Amino acid sequence: MLIVMKKQASAEEVRAVCDYIEGLGFRAHPMPGALRTAIGVTGNQGAIGQDTLEELSGVAEVIRVTKPYKLVSRDVKEEDTVIHFPGTNASIGGKNLAIMAGPCAIETREQAFTVAEQVAAAGAQFFRGGAYKPRTSPYAFQGLGEEALKIMAEIREAFGLRIVSEAMDRESLALIEEYADVIQIGARNMQNYSLLREVGRTRKPVLLKRGMSATLEELLMAAEYIMSEGNYQVILCERGVRTFVDHTRNTLDLSIVPAVQRLSHLPIIVDPSHGTGKRNKVVPLARAAVAVGADGLVIEVHHQPDKALSDGAQSIYPQQFADMMGEVRQIARILHRDIPDGIRIEQEVAGLAVASSHAAKTR
Ligand code: PEP
Ligand code: MN
Repeated sequence: MLIVMKKQASAEEVRAVCDYIEGLGFRAHPMPGALRTAIGVTGNQGAIGQDTLEELSGVAEVIRVTKPYKLVSRDVKEEDTVIHFPGTNASIGGKNLAIMAGPCAIETREQAFTVAEQVAAAGAQFFRGGAYKPRTSPYAFQGLGEEALKIMAEIREAFGLRIVSEAMDRESLALIEEYADVIQIGARNMQNYSLLREVGRTRKPVLLKRGMSATLEELLMAAEYIMSEGNYQVILCERGVRTFVDHTRNTLDLSIVPAVQRLSHLPIIVDPSHGTGKRNKVVPLARAAVAVGADGLVIEVHHQPDKALSDGAQSIYPQQFADMMGEVRQIARILHRDIPDGIRIEQEVAGLAVASSHAAKTR
């Protein structure tokens, strides 16, 4: 159920309608828009008295939402969701593209710093790095755990880059929430519903990767799980699906980008690294992802990919990443979009906001 408030409805009227809904034992999700606020109602198994709701002060219309996904839908929120990172120029969704780059796994402090410095200089705003790795083999490198998170926290301090890292389960989620700026939920966990609910109770943005054989609707329903718990900062990520082909690790399904954008207000970014599994295909598919209208990219970068402890074959060299940035920036401009030069931190100095470019300092 969706309650559309009148354009001139006051904050008190919105709050009173939410209180009324919650008093009935349901959950109210106010979604402020440019023109009006809509309130999504979840938790109602049957119908609730539509007529009574329509009589509440400030209510314009009450609509039954027939689609299975509600809070992710454009019916509830027409405008694109834009996620901001306070105190920085970083954002995900909207006009600017978000570029996340870094190694598959944090291996050593030196490795992480070497890659971070170079991706920051090339204009990335987010540093991705695995601390807990979901590996096919139990004997493969599983990640450095909290030690990796501490290294990434130092990287945020040194370069300003916002940190993205994967939570594999409840225990790792608590630590990722503490250290990272964006909590990644991996393809293998896209339908781990208890983890989705748990991450929905945090208040950090969530990068939700598409399951290896998930349909568009299953991806949106996974996002719905997170949002139903009150966390509306969800970023969808296409990372390829399993098909019969063997020239790539997965088949990158770029058509999901416009398909998502038609149905949902959530940002969608593309990971051509896992999507192809092959270094020589990452940059061409990154260009295509930007051309198709993606809101950003996730790219695995390693300075010594032959020695990488995970996903070396799909990790591009820092120089390739820098060249790619030049290309995708031009493609973005054709589409009237932009890729910022890099991360900027606004520091509070004696009451004045002073902008400094970490990326510029490292050039
Ligand atoms: C990753 O980002 O390193 C990763 C494991 O991705 P996915 O969950 O898409 O396989
Ligand atoms: Mn990886």
